[in-house]
Amino acid sequence: MKSISLMGATGSIGIQTLDVIRQHPEEFLLSAVSAGRNMEKTRDIIREFRPSLVSVQLKEDAEKLRSEFGDITVLHGEDGLIETACFHEADVLVNAVLGSVGLHPTLKAIEAGKTIAIANKETLVTAGHLVMEAARKKGVQLLPVDSEHSAIFQALQGENPKNIEKLIITASGGSFRDKSRDELVGVTVDDALNHPNWSMGAKITIDSATMMNKGLEVIEAHWLFDLPYDQIGVVLHRESIIHSMVQFHDSSVMAQLGTPDMRVPIQYALTYPDRMPHPKGKRLDLVEIGKLHFEEMDTDRFKCLGFAYAAGREGGSMPTVLNAANEAAVALFLKGAISFLQIDDLVERALNGHVTIQRPDLGTIHEIDRNTRKLVDSWV
Ligand code: NDP
Ligand code: MG
Repeated sequence: MKSISLMGATGSIGIQTLDVIRQHPEEFLLSAVSAGRNMEKTRDIIREFRPSLVSVQLKEDAEKLRSEFGDITVLHGEDGLIETACFHEADVLVNAVLGSVGLHPTLKAIEAGKTIAIANKETLVTAGHLVMEAARKKGVQLLPVDSEHSAIFQALQGENPKNIEKLIITASGGSFRDKSRDELVGVTVDDALNHPNWSMGAKITIDSATMMNKGLEVIEAHWLFDLPYDQIGVVLHRESIIHSMVQFHDSSVMAQLGTPDMRVPIQYALTYPDRMPHPKGKRLDLVEIGKLHFEEMDTDRFKCLGFAYAAGREGGSMPTVLNAANEAAVALFLKGAISFLQIDDLVERALNGHVTIQRPDLGTIHEIDRNTRKLVDSWV
């Protein structure tokens, strides 16, 4: 039996991870969870799974839970996240928390030697060099949960990385894939949250609409697969059936296909190198699908993808600024404080105003992350 600690249990990936655990009670045990502020879901999770450790964002919520569930250790804040990440009973950490708040706990989990199934892409974008170096030193495995990276990881099984010509990341195009920039003026939060293929958390759904999600995934792929940006491409693929591909020097392309169901890559990360049945999942029916389509990405239309490539190539602290500015801008958009197209503008302004620091350490990253968020907020 594999013991799992789960950060971000109340979110979209968290809930789907719980469903995978629920489907295989003989294989998985949930030993620790962290949540943010959603106490209703946190209580449901405690009642159903009875984890030994629970961590929530706020002190007052932790106190309430402690009085309700006497037999469970309840912590809060960043210390609580770190305790969840490093929980001694857990064999695997699923990091499904949202945003760069996941960075410090991830580094601590690596120090503690935990295998990490990582969905939390902002952590890799903001400090990929620190995470990958720590993982290499400690011999810790980072298993991708993001569907594109899981697809690439699966396509690379048994292959020599030296033979890779290019990674081809597929993009659904998000909620506004058929709108011109002019048509994006005045689109609402609800329009942006209406993703054609995937049901996900709010922030990543907005990132899909701006195409920042693909940009973050390009940087994530750079770190996970140790490849330069020239060898990472993106192609628009409306059906979200091919989750990504690897092209090799001999011109062969390996692809992983499936219905858009995050439980498949989550489960693969938990069972790797083995596989288990996914009884609830709809099977892929290629005849029913009939056709798959591929189009070139338009980086004039989707500016954030271009910003991410540029920030990734620049390296150093620039991806930290990209991520922090985007997290701040998306939060402002979701609150109704800015328009959709202002997300691009705020990110661009933050990038243009930043002078790169090479190889920033954790303290510098935290400082740049904080200052960039403050700056973006101050512009609105
Ligand atoms: P959600 O917004 O649905 O969930 C985020 C989770 O993180 C919730 O449990 C939330 O708690 C918790 N959380 C947020 N902020 C804090 C904080 N400051 N301290 C502690 N906990 C916090 O996000 P998703 O599940 O959509 O995404 C999670 C990660 O996975 C992201 O990095 C995303 O890019 C990545 N990902 C998501 C995919 C998807 O299909 N959703 C696909 C691929 C990658 P609460 O709700 O209780 O406040
Ligand atoms: Mg993805």
